[in-house]
Amino acid sequence: METLKRALRKSSPEKFRLLTDLVETSIDGTRDIFVNRPLNMSQIHYIGFDMDYTLAIYNKHAIEELAFVITLEKLVELKSYPAEIMELTYHDDRIIRGLLIDYQKGNLIKINRFKQVCRVQHGTQDLETSVYFNDKIDQSDPLRFSSVDTLFSLPEAYLYVLLVDLVENKVLNDRSYTQIYEDIRYCIDMTHRDGSLKSDILRDIGKYVYKDPHLSLTLDKLRESDKKLFLLTNSEYYYTDMIMEYLLDTDSLHYSSWRDYFEIVIVNARKPGFFKENTPFYRVDEVTHEETLMDEASFDRKGIYSKGNYIAFEKLIQAKGNEVLYIGDHIFGDVMRSDKDSNWRTVLVVQELEDELSVTAEVREKYQRLRRLSNKWDKLHYELHIFSSQLNTLQNLELSLRELTPAESKALEKTREELEEGIKRCHKEMEKTETKVHNLRQEISSQYHPVWGPLFHDGDEISRFGDQVRDYASLYTSRVSNFFFYPIDRYYKSLRDIMPHDRWLELSN
Ligand SMILES: [Mg+2]
Repeated sequence: METLKRALRKSSPEKFRLLTDLVETSIDGTRDIFVNRPLNMSQIHYIGFDMDYTLAIYNKHAIEELAFVITLEKLVELKSYPAEIMELTYHDDRIIRGLLIDYQKGNLIKINRFKQVCRVQHGTQDLETSVYFNDKIDQSDPLRFSSVDTLFSLPEAYLYVLLVDLVENKVLNDRSYTQIYEDIRYCIDMTHRDGSLKSDILRDIGKYVYKDPHLSLTLDKLRESDKKLFLLTNSEYYYTDMIMEYLLDTDSLHYSSWRDYFEIVIVNARKPGFFKENTPFYRVDEVTHEETLMDEASFDRKGIYSKGNYIAFEKLIQAKGNEVLYIGDHIFGDVMRSDKDSNWRTVLVVQELEDELSVTAEVREKYQRLRRLSNKWDKLHYELHIFSSQLNTLQNLELSLRELTPAESKALEKTREELEEGIKRCHKEMEKTETKVHNLRQEISSQYHPVWGPLFHDGDEISRFGDQVRDYASLYTSRVSNFFFYPIDRYYKSLRDIMPHDRWLELSN
């Protein structure tokens, strides 16, 4: 750190001030790194990064709107959709990650980890979850569901719900829900394949890509601790080069080019195929961008490579799987596949985490109130059980005692009235408490998102997205530069994993 401080003080007072700020100001909790599985960073020798939405944080509204508009244009041009769809406008706050598109029914659904449907929209209209009563949700069924896994998928999901509305309004009544989905997919793929989205981004990178001021400092810190860095992205070289140059070249303290940060650069990696197929590596000519099949003997650490697979990669760098950490934003392509197929450790970047945690901080008091109401309901329920049992006992006693004195009858009657009164009071109070709980739950949920609620939960359950994050990522955090605030060789320890009966112990203490 002292070396870095000295270098900065000399070369750039502005960066020196930034560094001092970073060191002296602790970040708030929204940028913490969270641990699902223990990870000892001292055993990690290679750290790999995805680029899009990982190193490169995109300006959410600008890029999603761009993808939305280009796709609309392609729907009109290539799929003969009526020109009036061009009047549709994009709102970046209508869809969250982790939803499923049910393109047989034209719905968007949120499910929890038990595959129960928690929320449904048909087009932009809310539906009761009962429409999925007894419907087994097989999220892996490619003929019915598509998952909104990445931030790149948000515009297509929003476009889908708007077009379903147009089907219902008879503007697109000659197209089925499935047809619309397939048309959108085709056009979105085309915007990526023909380079139209990327060329617009590159024309005005500053509009679309957020330049994280702490990114280069973080990579410097990792390299200073002898970690070897590599880039593994699905983007093509020409695009990667320009984005990385924008992110790092002018910020670099020690290096003349972004390339100097990375031992190896792999573009066009075709993840998740990189983790499960046996595609060979190609060498990329940096000037012509031509790709030639790579001869392993010619592998050098500063080369640019394309495609490939993780087994050959481990052989080339001579590292074992658990010595490699990979950081990406795509739950399926970056984290799930690398966890299942390779032995790489993983970090999931969840950009939404900062907003999600800020809301959690805002609603903390409401959560406490909710817990108190829930405890009150439990207590009332228990009281009700006692009153009902006593009333039952009393009735049995009445039947078994043949003759009662007037005084006994009076006492018995009084007790019965008291118990009935108690039962009535419990029912009334429970009903009132249930209404309060329901309203408070709604209030909390809509603070996260008015339609879909929190990203990682639904009610008391963990959402499908939360479940996947917990199952597949060793660590998760909102952005790569959060590593700057931790010791590089930190042993990330998970919280003690508890079972429901452990909670009883905790509560009784
Ligand atoms: Mg990505």
